[in-house]
Amino acid sequence: MATKRDYYEILGVGKNATPEELKKAYRKLALQYHPDRNPDDKEAEEKFKEAAEAYSVLSDSDKRARYDQFGHAGVDGAGGFGGGGMDMNDIFSQFGGIFGDLFGGGRGFGGFGGFSGFGGGGRQGRRVVRGSNLRIKMPLTLEEIDAGVEKKVKVTKYVPCKTCGGSGSRTGQLETCPHCHGSGVVVEVRRTILGQMQTQSACPHCGGEGRVVKDKCPDCHGDGIVKSEEVITIQVPAGVSDGMQFALSGKGNAGPRGGVPGDLVVVVEEKQHELFERQDQNLYYNAFITFSDAAMGGSVEIPTLHGKVRVKIEQGTPSGKVLRLKGKGLPSVNGYGRGDLLVCVNVWVPKSITKEEKAMLEKLKESPNFQPNPTKQERGFFDKMKDLFN
Ligand SMILES: [Zn+2]
Ligand SMILES: [Zn+2]
Repeated sequence: MATKRDYYEILGVGKNATPEELKKAYRKLALQYHPDRNPDDKEAEEKFKEAAEAYSVLSDSDKRARYDQFGHAGVDGAGGFGGGGMDMNDIFSQFGGIFGDLFGGGRGFGGFGGFSGFGGGGRQGRRVVRGSNLRIKMPLTLEEIDAGVEKKVKVTKYVPCKTCGGSGSRTGQLETCPHCHGSGVVVEVRRTILGQMQTQSACPHCGGEGRVVKDKCPDCHGDGIVKSEEVITIQVPAGVSDGMQFALSGKGNAGPRGGVPGDLVVVVEEKQHELFERQDQNLYYNAFITFSDAAMGGSVEIPTLHGKVRVKIEQGTPSGKVLRLKGKGLPSVNGYGRGDLLVCVNVWVPKSITKEEKAMLEKLKESPNFQPNPTKQERGFFDKMKDLFN
């Protein structure tokens, strides 16, 4: 598949564009490349589809968040158009309203024009009601984030009603809506500056579904869905971080009366680790060494997410020195490389001492090498401190 263009670039808006700006930008492109204005123009059709795909993602706050975080990988497949792009019927049924004022909705695409009745072949203009997205929080330890993890969660959600097979009708039969004759839309012809135009809107009687339930199912009261519990297995990729979201397509609430199910949106929550602090892919650890090791050199045991490692302490290591353990941090979520473990060395100062210890220290205190004599660089630490408090 060819490389996809950035959705913001397609619509010609900035990353911080408001929903209004997105809509405006999309509307402009949709009108420019509308098939009615560009008959038999393949390139215009591609542009028209491309803009619709970009808008369908960016106008949905969940999908937009995933796109911002993971790029196309975050919404392909999960977005409902599986990388294959949108087809014209999808575009008109989802966004027809946006340019329906100027053009006759789906004219020429088996759309909204006439009385299609029932069973007129395929989707026609009827609106299928989509189930809502389900959102869950997923608390994860750093160890789980490091390796990636499979989680089973029990969720309460809407599922199709078994009694009526999801139709909402006791007899399983639905009636063609008498108001719109099954098309799901009401069409109005009116005059505009561009001449006579058709306007279409969702039928108020059936909510755009084109069908009405005649004999309502007693268990779901005609909705075709009921609340139930379901255990869902979720594969969490390695390297995720607090606040990240990813979606499982179709695992959300079932849509009423055979509609499309929504997505299950998983929001990552990182649990505080007892040893490490995290910043992006790097981990931070505070190590404490004895004064003797700091002065004479030695080694110290450092915990990592993959067991302990022994790290050499150079002779004359000052407190505050940072040792970098390459690759001992977290993997990146896109699979490129690993962060580091940064070890901050602290020289341990005893909180209380015995008489004998005191006598030994008194002796050392007068020794010339024990008199503070910091280099210019070491004095410069003051600047760092100022940065810290500014
Ligand atoms: Zn039912
Ligand atoms: Zn209707």
